[in-house]
Amino acid sequence: MAAPARFDDDAEIVVIGAGATGIVAALAARQAGASVIVVEAEAHIGGHAICSGGNLSFGGGNSYQKKYGIEDSAELLFRDLIDWTVVEPNGAPPYRYNDHELARAFADNSVAAFEFLLAQGVRIVEQAPDNLSGHEIGMSAPRTLHAAMMDWPAVQTGKLADAAERTTTSSGNGLMQPLYAAATAAGVKFLLRHRMTAIHREATPSGSVTGIAVDNDGATRHIGTRRAVIIGTGGSSGNVNFRRMFDPRLTDEYCGLAGMPWSDQDASGELAAMAIGASLWGLTNFSGEYGTGVTKPGSIGCQYGYANLRWFPGSEVFDKARATGLKVGDWQNVILVNMVGRRFYDETGRQFTPNLYGSFAPYRPGDWRNARAVAYNPSNFINAALAGIGDGRNGGGPIWAIFDAEAVARESWDPFPPHVDSDGGFFFSAATIEELAANIVMKHQRVPMPPANLAATVDRYNGFVENGVDADFDRPTPRYKIATPPFYAAWATPHHAVDCGDVIVAPLRAAQSITGRWSALVCVTTASIPAPRSNPSDAFIAAKSCTGKVSSSKRRASGHGRGSYDVRLV
Ligand SMILES: Cc1cc2nc3c(=O)[nH]c(=O)nc-3n(C[C@H](O)[C@H](O)[C@H](O)COP(=O)(O)OP(=O)(O)OC[C@H]3O[C@@H](n4cnc5c(N)ncnc54)[C@H](O)[C@@H]3O)c2cc1C
Repeated sequence: MAAPARFDDDAEIVVIGAGATGIVAALAARQAGASVIVVEAEAHIGGHAICSGGNLSFGGGNSYQKKYGIEDSAELLFRDLIDWTVVEPNGAPPYRYNDHELARAFADNSVAAFEFLLAQGVRIVEQAPDNLSGHEIGMSAPRTLHAAMMDWPAVQTGKLADAAERTTTSSGNGLMQPLYAAATAAGVKFLLRHRMTAIHREATPSGSVTGIAVDNDGATRHIGTRRAVIIGTGGSSGNVNFRRMFDPRLTDEYCGLAGMPWSDQDASGELAAMAIGASLWGLTNFSGEYGTGVTKPGSIGCQYGYANLRWFPGSEVFDKARATGLKVGDWQNVILVNMVGRRFYDETGRQFTPNLYGSFAPYRPGDWRNARAVAYNPSNFINAALAGIGDGRNGGGPIWAIFDAEAVARESWDPFPPHVDSDGGFFFSAATIEELAANIVMKHQRVPMPPANLAATVDRYNGFVENGVDADFDRPTPRYKIATPPFYAAWATPHHAVDCGDVIVAPLRAAQSITGRWSALVCVTTASIPAPRSNPSDAFIAAKSCTGKVSSSKRRASGHGRGSYDVRLV
């Protein structure tokens, strides 16, 4: 979009999005002396980061690693993140397609970024670094630390945690709230309910980035920049057409994006950047079969049932989430069927399983024997769930958990609102199995479930329970018949989680096509490392770049920097 005649507001640095990336970038830029405006689409800050587990993966030899006697270095971290020899049990390579420049910049700045967080008041749970971030952070050393939730009401519940848990529980609130407080105190200006709709550039394919357009409750405003626009909009997994560029199976029914409905990740940053000539690089990890890119639900009977995030009535977004969901303790209590009432996999099967620190014994960085040491043992639950019904249409369609009154008792479920979302079409019940199938009517159920199919599936499964053998899918010792009414069907469709790959695109590369006189476009995300967890680190580097605090800015200016942000300040 060409520059408007007049800007309504301006700052040296304009940041889009008040999540992990945006707030860190804003704060780092402000502390470097720049005036900063952050625009945020939602009425609240935090993005997916504030809903997250607060597991912080940095490494490289930071103060906590030293305190607990863990040897690490930037070199080791970098080498881990580009190690082509590591594969997961399904053969997927988590690091092979990583962007080396990004990995290098991440590794080189990891300690500084972590210490920066501490200096802003982020409190860390007092324990040794562990491997909880799975493969994202490499194999050579435990690197994950945890942001303590402290004294802020959790966004999931609207309540404070018990006093005993505040310093011991990891939470994204514990990361984002101190950062927001520090940014506000430092004079960063936050404009909530300001959704960026376009980025202004003098001309394409050359010309400065001059600012952005935003939608503020229906009114269009323009915000100018004197140095740079930093995109921290999170990613694109909430945009169905965008994500289907990478995986055609990810059709509309994958509507339970983890982190929604707190905030969306609708590709608006990527699309706006591309509209002014940017390109996206290093997106392979978007659809990598590792980590939690697409996940089995943790809770059923609700739209948002991601395993690591539940919404409760006290949350300020509960009116949008509508139900808490029934947390599944034991998948033996249900069978899972597709849109036409047929089972498709062992229900106790797992989503993609990663190797993590400690999985290789010994781990030999860069050694071809690593791959050979991995026993091929794919977890194909997700692929089976996304396989569809063979009617020539993409997408797996809804997956329903079918169970009976005895399962409800065994799990101590309360199958009524606000635990389940009956009004939204994510939960049904009936006195008979046939009636249950007929009741399943909702927007993603594009063909009716034949009652006879579901009845036959349940009968057959009950036979497996009698014989002790699942002749169809080898579920280990099928335990419970589905025989006692009422019967239930609860939404159990996989979720597109933005965890690994946060699918954020690598728009950092967008900067490569921008040649601005004073202004640059810096896009900060980490898709080219399967470690979205490094966002604060990337943002930190980006902000330093924009404010001229990165020593290699000259090399960056010529496009040959080894850092991740090829900001062209001509
Ligand atoms: C349940 C859950 C648990 C997780 N656990 C962890 C964990 O333990 N450790 C970890 O490292 N990672 C975790 N993650 C991933 C982590 O939260 C993300 O990698 C991180 O939040 C990405 O940061 P971001 O700033 O890029 O995006 P976000 O934090 O999502 O922030 C993006 C912000 O941009 C705003 N925005 C979007 N579009 C626009 C627009 N057009 N105009 C203005 N504003 C806009 C959004 O509203 C949002 O506030 C988890 C994610 C989820 C959902």
